[in-house]
Amino acid sequence: MDHLVIGAGPAGLQLAYYLEQAGRDYLVLEAGATPGTFFRTFPRHQRLISINKTHTGCTDPELNLRMDWNSLLSDDVGLRFTQYTERYFPDAEDMVRYLGDFAAAFRLRIQYNTRVEKITRNGSFRIVTDRGQEYETKRLIAATGVSKPYLPVIPGIETAELYDVCQSIFATSSTSAYSSLAKAIPGSRPLTI
Ligand SMILES: Cc1cc2nc3c(=O)[nH]c(=O)nc-3n(C[C@H](O)[C@H](O)[C@H](O)COP(=O)(O)OP(=O)(O)OC[C@H]3O[C@@H](n4cnc5c(N)ncnc54)[C@H](O)[C@@H]3O)c2cc1C
Repeated sequence: MDHLVIGAGPAGLQLAYYLEQAGRDYLVLEAGATPGTFFRTFPRHQRLISINKTHTGCTDPELNLRMDWNSLLSDDVGLRFTQYTERYFPDAEDMVRYLGDFAAAFRLRIQYNTRVEKITRNGSFRIVTDRGQEYETKRLIAATGVSKPYLPVIPGIETAELYDVCQSIFATSSTSAYSSLAKAIPGSRPLTI
């Protein structure tokens, strides 16, 4: 195989679309049962934070697409997220439905319920899934979205500050400001998101 994509979220689907259009040899492996499984759990309140601008006051499709925070790119103007709901803060379920329709409309080659468990490389990439299948590919693309940090077993690792930690009360990107705030608020503790 030439291209193997891990993950059928928006990124994996968009890439699969272009691979399909270009007539490439590819396969997408997706751990979940459908595209966009991230949105079945997040955002927790199940309302998208990517607002949906259906009323831009403009008829220029190019400009409307630029204002569109949710649609994937394709030649099918009917397959825009804005056609799925008028809500400014749409349901996450709308996104799952949209991504499912996108994958089906372009007959993207996706194998669901398949988690990649092991990747080795010896020239080409060798992939092993939780179903015991093995694939070999020249190019491997990880479109796996949100990840959790790898914490090596090192004495004292718990004292290291991680990049994905933010203060539960104040959000700040400054480490020194973060430390000052943590000291200034007795009993406060970092929240990992
Ligand atoms: C809390 C939170 C809320 C968010 N809300 C929004 C929002 O409202 N709107 C918005 O546009 N963006 C939102 N985002 C950003 C959002 O995550 C991205 O826009 C979008 O999901 C990224 O798409 P992606 O394809 O890169 O990753 P994902 O959508 O996460 O897709 C990755 C896919 O890879 C699959 N996968 C992972 N590991 C494996 C494996 N080993 N084998 C096989 N498959 C695997 C997963 O099942 C998943 O389907 C939010 C992010 C967070 C953290």
